[in-house]
Amino acid sequence: MKILMAEDDTTSRLVFGATLRKLGYEVTAVENGQKAWEAWKQGEYALLISDWMMPDIDGLQLCKMIRAESSLQYTYIMLLTALDSKGSYLEGMDAGADDFITKPFDEEQLAARLRVAERILALHKKLHTQATYDRLTGVWNRAAIMDSLAVELERAARQSICTGVIVADLDHFKQVNDTYGHHAGDTVLQEAARRMRLALRPYDQLGRYGGEEFLITAPDCTWQDAITLAERIRSAINAEPVDSQSEKIPITVSLGVTIGGDRIGEDAAMLIAAADEALYRAKKAGRNRVELSDRRT
Ligand SMILES: [Mg+2]
Repeated sequence: MKILMAEDDTTSRLVFGATLRKLGYEVTAVENGQKAWEAWKQGEYALLISDWMMPDIDGLQLCKMIRAESSLQYTYIMLLTALDSKGSYLEGMDAGADDFITKPFDEEQLAARLRVAERILALHKKLHTQATYDRLTGVWNRAAIMDSLAVELERAARQSICTGVIVADLDHFKQVNDTYGHHAGDTVLQEAARRMRLALRPYDQLGRYGGEEFLITAPDCTWQDAITLAERIRSAINAEPVDSQSEKIPITVSLGVTIGGDRIGEDAAMLIAAADEALYRAKKAGRNRVELSDRRT
């Protein structure tokens, strides 16, 4: 596990860093709050150990800055302190610290507290996974793909680029369940998600939006890019039947495509509604096809 450490006192930094390495941790040690902030923003550190008293950005400020950022991964923060009054602990807690280590530190106590930190981080990770992934298909769940779209739209508006929004709905999925059973239905959903993921660009996002409906967000996308992507998904899905317990189940998908995001204030719900309307037309026009939303200008 990687630990980021900020301590302005050279001796203390060296001793502490050596101890952490001896305990088996990978350590990046920096000498002030500003450097710690810059390193933390790289997103590689789930555990920060910071001295409280540092010039300019101190440990308390660093805590507040980190807590103010919305980050997918929780950062566990331990403050190093020579202070020993209850008031200051509470102040640290309120700023967002998780634990305190009093200097000079006791090695065994430090090791024990790091175990607690690791346990809590592992729990956070597990909860995060459960809260964001669709258990059956392994792609984002509805809430997570919606969050991802909202974030992407904000970014797109800032950079004046467009985001492709594609809704993909498996055709006649109810018939698959009715004819082959729910187990086969689950296999079809898993395989469809796998094929879609393979058809996407590395930075596109895929989520399960509803029963057999998927949502794809494609950053930095022209109309033509979005159409090409949707067509690629469509042909990947019906390239061959899905194998399920010696049955070969043919599947197809209908897709609705729109793009947006280059204007401030366009929201996710609006774009999804537009893509949904196009999907509806794709279904009406015979399925296994891509239709574009009439937002096209
Ligand atoms: Mg200090």
